[in-house]
Amino acid sequence: RRGASLTDLAEKIGVDAASLVQVLFHLGEMVTATQSVSDETLEILGAELEYNIEVVSPEDEDRELLESFDVDFGEDLGDEDDLAARPPVVTVMGHVDHGKTKLLDAYRKSNVVSGEAGGITQKIGAYQVEANVDDQDRKITFIDTPGHEAFTAMRARGAKSTDIAVLVVAADDGVMPQTIEAMNHAIAAEVPVVVAVNKVDKPAADPTRVRGQLSEYGLVPEEYGGDTQFVDVSALTGQGLDELLEAIVLTADAALDLRANPDMPAQGVAIEAHLDKGRGAVATVLVHRGTLHIGDSIVAGSAHGRVRAMINDLGENITEAPPSMPVQVLGLTSVPGAGDNFLVVEDDRVARQIADKREARMRAAQQAKSSRRKTLDQLFEQ
Ligand code: GDP
Ligand code: MG
Repeated sequence: RRGASLTDLAEKIGVDAASLVQVLFHLGEMVTATQSVSDETLEILGAELEYNIEVVSPEDEDRELLESFDVDFGEDLGDEDDLAARPPVVTVMGHVDHGKTKLLDAYRKSNVVSGEAGGITQKIGAYQVEANVDDQDRKITFIDTPGHEAFTAMRARGAKSTDIAVLVVAADDGVMPQTIEAMNHAIAAEVPVVVAVNKVDKPAADPTRVRGQLSEYGLVPEEYGGDTQFVDVSALTGQGLDELLEAIVLTADAALDLRANPDMPAQGVAIEAHLDKGRGAVATVLVHRGTLHIGDSIVAGSAHGRVRAMINDLGENITEAPPSMPVQVLGLTSVPGAGDNFLVVEDDRVARQIADKREARMRAAQQAKSSRRKTLDQLFEQ
């Protein structure tokens, strides 16, 4: 396991840790028994002891755990013939105050059915918007939440939860540090970017400057011969909002093959979760593949349970959630973390076993961390 200590290793291979410290000392490395050692050190040690040591990442370890229950996560999308188009999942990113929230609110408002004038729409951290492109009704899923954190967490876990990033840049302010940071996140995750040049209603707006600035970073507008769509918008007046949806759909169609099999056990990612006084653990999940049904046994991170109810972005109770649909799920026994994957398994027993194993692993990792810290503290005390 990555970040393992000599004590961990000693336990695994049934020797005492002190002798491992000694072996390393003779190889010219000074390491204490509880200190975490690098992958290379572990491998050197393995070679010396004629053990074949393989360092596995937490992701691989989890994959192995799931495989031991005959569950495959994420890889298998099913037969080519069973795949159906699914809506793109979009994250909105950008520098603070450039208009991310305002833009999302503008879309959400248009999403609220008229008559619900009070706007008692549930905020579930993600929602779907209808776009009419080439006379076709197309859905787009927006992830709302504290966007960045969830995005970063999901990326760290290798869960691909966003198909497209909308980079919001205020036309009066131009490219700022967090604009670049957000852009780099998207590029690292290999997520195509659509640029929303916002606040074009402002007298000081200079959308051309934004295009020039981002071109220098490699995001070249289509009109300059590049392959990135730039759309001038105003979240305040509504200008360009339909064009932005169209650009998202066109980018999805041109660059991505967004299909999933709706007839498999559902899998996806938890994008937000909290404990509600009356309803217990409430998790907003995004379905990647398959369809989630009421009554399904699920495991999400180290939480598990059976889907008792599902609520969509309009606050309506629903009985099934197809690919790319965000839903609130009730029925989990505890609160999963943002970015944790979720999956439907055979029955409650399997769900509980997987959750328990993950929980135990998390606790062990935490303990290892705090004992390492203790060792360091002791070192400094001397
Ligand atoms: P965020 O930090 O990126 O979420 O930015 P907000 O959505 O909170 O917007 C920051 C400020 O800019 C708020 O005062 C908004 O009302 C304002 N704002 C956002 N979009 C526009 C726009 O298109 N035009 C103008 N004039 N103001 C906007
Ligand atoms: Mg905001």
